[in-house]
Amino acid sequence: MRIYYHIMPMILGLLASILLLSGGQGVSAAEQPNKPLVFGVYAYLDDASVRAEYQPLIDYLNRQLGANRVVLQVLDMAAFNDAIRDRTIDIATTNPTHYLQLRHAFELTGVIATTMRKGDKDSVSVLSGVIFSKNNRHDINRLSDLHNKSIAIANKHHLGGFWAQQYTLYRAGVAVDEAQWLLFGEHIKVVKAVLEGKADVGFVRSGLLETMQDRGMLASNEIKIINAQYSPYSKQKMSTEFYPEWPIFAPTQTPEKIQALVLALLAYRPAIEQVESGAISGFTFPSDYLKVESLARELRLPPFDRAPSFNLVDAWQKWQDKLLFIGSLLALLLLLLIGMILLYRAAQVARYRNALLLSSLGEGVFGVDKDERCTFMNAVALEMLGSREALVLGRHVHALFHYHHEDGRAFSFQECPVSQTLTDGKTRTAETHLIRADGSIFPAHLTVAPMLDADKIIGAEVIFQDISQQKETEARLYQLANFDALTGCANRRYFVEQLSTHFELGKAPMVLMMLDLDHFKQINDRYGHAVGDAVLQAFSHVLQDQQRSDDLVGRIGGEEFAVLLPNTTLTQAKVWAESLRKAVEKIAIAHAAQQVGVTVSVGVAEFDLSLATIDDWLLKADKAVYRAKDCGRNQVVVL
Ligand code: GH3
Ligand code: MG
Ligand code: MG
Repeated sequence: MRIYYHIMPMILGLLASILLLSGGQGVSAAEQPNKPLVFGVYAYLDDASVRAEYQPLIDYLNRQLGANRVVLQVLDMAAFNDAIRDRTIDIATTNPTHYLQLRHAFELTGVIATTMRKGDKDSVSVLSGVIFSKNNRHDINRLSDLHNKSIAIANKHHLGGFWAQQYTLYRAGVAVDEAQWLLFGEHIKVVKAVLEGKADVGFVRSGLLETMQDRGMLASNEIKIINAQYSPYSKQKMSTEFYPEWPIFAPTQTPEKIQALVLALLAYRPAIEQVESGAISGFTFPSDYLKVESLARELRLPPFDRAPSFNLVDAWQKWQDKLLFIGSLLALLLLLLIGMILLYRAAQVARYRNALLLSSLGEGVFGVDKDERCTFMNAVALEMLGSREALVLGRHVHALFHYHHEDGRAFSFQECPVSQTLTDGKTRTAETHLIRADGSIFPAHLTVAPMLDADKIIGAEVIFQDISQQKETEARLYQLANFDALTGCANRRYFVEQLSTHFELGKAPMVLMMLDLDHFKQINDRYGHAVGDAVLQAFSHVLQDQQRSDDLVGRIGGEEFAVLLPNTTLTQAKVWAESLRKAVEKIAIAHAAQQVGVTVSVGVAEFDLSLATIDDWLLKADKAVYRAKDCGRNQVVVL
């Protein structure tokens, strides 16, 4: 540092001499006779103190540049700012944070040189902050102890006297309330305030305490340094990091005007022993003020106390690509969302329509998956099966309600139309029986259609109707068409039809009988038609009692009956007929205190291949009956 202190002015002085001797423009500008150059200094202390500090420099410059070439102006902050704005000063110096603000507000040169001050070891071009309290304050030892303590400061414009400390506290996480600050205007008053107990803690810039000690204003044991750190530049301890000393700068104007002044300034080296500790001891190349700028940014000091104005156009210019991409993505998402909503609504409408349709069909509809488990069932089907959705969904339809047989037996795969459709994918109809929840069975007509997904069978849809009534009607019509209402025997048409079938088959042995009630007209005449009917019914009961499962009994005329005995020999038939005849003899219909009886004449005609037509056979049986009548009635005649 000491070598540097001696060599620097030699180099700078040489440079200045070359310039001065060369008769450059800088000299001629500086030599304009009646316009002295104004050296503006911010009044960080009272006017007199600052003047006293800078006057030796001004005197030096005037010696170098010619008498009264440079004049000193000491300005408070407002006046200093105005002077910079109005360019009424030619070269200036102030604290680094203030310079930063000015640099943002006005057109200035960069830093031309950085101030050096005499330290207790060497001349230094850095400054730092000191945080101190009275030595006897045992409650104040570290930064966190500053919480809720009163703090004396000169003002908030100084870097070394305020911001450096504030930044240190900020980084240590110690918050200071506005109420804690006590402003004393000058650094020396800050020290006095702490000593007098007016404040708990004081902030001053580095070097000041040493100056005061030199001047006998302060005893070294009276105070202690908080957050004390060893300094490479000083024997004294500091509380904060180091920042560059005050910068020299100029409003932008013809640089030639101050060129000689700057060179002289850089060459300024007063006799070091005559310089008071802490006073200006020269100027050096510009330091890097980035550190100050970082501090100001982080503490949001002017000019960084406002977020930069940033409008939509800026945003667009900066992030055009990203904004376009995000915008397209959002638009795509929006379209997708709208599409999904529309699809969902369409599906809902379709579902609603389907449900409406299914319930208004009056038909039961259910679906099965490929394992024949129920996937859905409409309300009509549930009602028909006497069940609830929760009981059928997911259940196997065969186990639950789908039976083929009327007697309740589960059917085989081949018999089940649903299984078949699930296998071959064909639509089919079938009549089967379904079982209700209460166990009762009803006939149903099914239409089974496959459910396909890209030609793959994924299940089946079954539409069914309860056909109980239809079946009953059919049975009634069948009965009416084929059977006699009074006796329940097959009617003539049906009997002859069945007889023809057997005749065509020609499967011997089989026997045809004709039966004619004897003197039946007399019964009607004697007891009335109703008694005659009762006798007819009693006779048919006897006949049906004796009828075997394969036998066919028909009423082929008023009181004429016929019986076909398949798979029966003539001998067996005769026995059968005789037995019947005897049973008929026993009929006794009670009427008006009388018993009405009846007998029957039976003609028996065995089937044989000589019979050309069914009529031949019937005729043969008829002949046998006539023979029985002729022979006295109530007998069996075989032909
Ligand atoms: P025969 O012994 O020769 O057979 O004498 P018959 O009286 O039985 O024979 P006829 O053919 O002369 O009479 C049959 C009678 O049967 C005539 C008819 O009024 C009566 N008849 C026919 N159908 C019914 C019927 O449904 N109910 C009643 N009550 N009588 C019937
Ligand atoms: Mg008759
Ligand atoms: Mg008769």
